[in-house]
Amino acid sequence: MRTIIEPHIHMYSRTTDDYQAMYNAGIRACVEPSFWLGSHRRYAGTFFDYFENILTFEPTRSERFGIDHFTAIAYNPKEAENKTLVDEVLDGIGEYLDHPRCVAMGEIGFNNINEAEYYCFTRQLRMAKERDMPVIIHISHYNKPTCLEWVLRGFDEVQPDQKKIYLDHNTEDTIERALAETDCWCGLTVYPISKLDPMRASAIIKKHGIDRIIVSGSADWGISDPVSLVKVLEQLKADGHPEETLQKVAFDNPNAFYSQSPKWKPRLDLVPWKIELRQP
Ligand SMILES: [Zn+2]
Repeated sequence: MRTIIEPHIHMYSRTTDDYQAMYNAGIRACVEPSFWLGSHRRYAGTFFDYFENILTFEPTRSERFGIDHFTAIAYNPKEAENKTLVDEVLDGIGEYLDHPRCVAMGEIGFNNINEAEYYCFTRQLRMAKERDMPVIIHISHYNKPTCLEWVLRGFDEVQPDQKKIYLDHNTEDTIERALAETDCWCGLTVYPISKLDPMRASAIIKKHGIDRIIVSGSADWGISDPVSLVKVLEQLKADGHPEETLQKVAFDNPNAFYSQSPKWKPRLDLVPWKIELRQP
């Protein structure tokens, strides 16, 4: 079976059935970026407890299902308009970024695309640059071309090493410019019904090549699929993409991106724990 890395997935919102489906489909390592929890947080401590959870409990949970789980830590864009909270959380986020399971800063970026979000974005981009760590950037789900302009403005100001950036949530609207005007790895997140589906992802890869593209399933609170990435691989095969492309999507590209963190040492040979059913 092909060994797969899922580079962007929110397992916090998923069940153990999802871990089992992922393992059975060949996924052996994953990265969970920090995200929005369904309601806006009111306290910095709520962020810190969440960071602690996805850095410690989630890797323990996933290991039981044979998947090595890593984490990306950040203040997410959807809550970035609360500047007091942004500053309070970013003043204390350092120890979580330095945690052994944290392989990147992320997701940072934009939701409504405004100056408050830009402040949170650039402050974190600077912190990642100081730590020389990889970054996952979230392009907004609406007005993507405008959002890309704001990301480029942030790059001009902070001058990060773009090879260490995974610029995610591209579609046909942004992928050409993202590849041409940045040195970032460019992400496609694939969902079952909304946003990008496997057929569109396959067409984008056919047109633009696979050299700097990373595909993920994202899988969050909405209708999403923890094995979307596997479905993209099936679609690529059906569409006649070469084996080299499939291997880059499944493993080589996400592995190359995260290997820029010295903490990325995925154990690909974990086996699910045996489940012992007790007799009543
Ligand atoms: Zn995400």
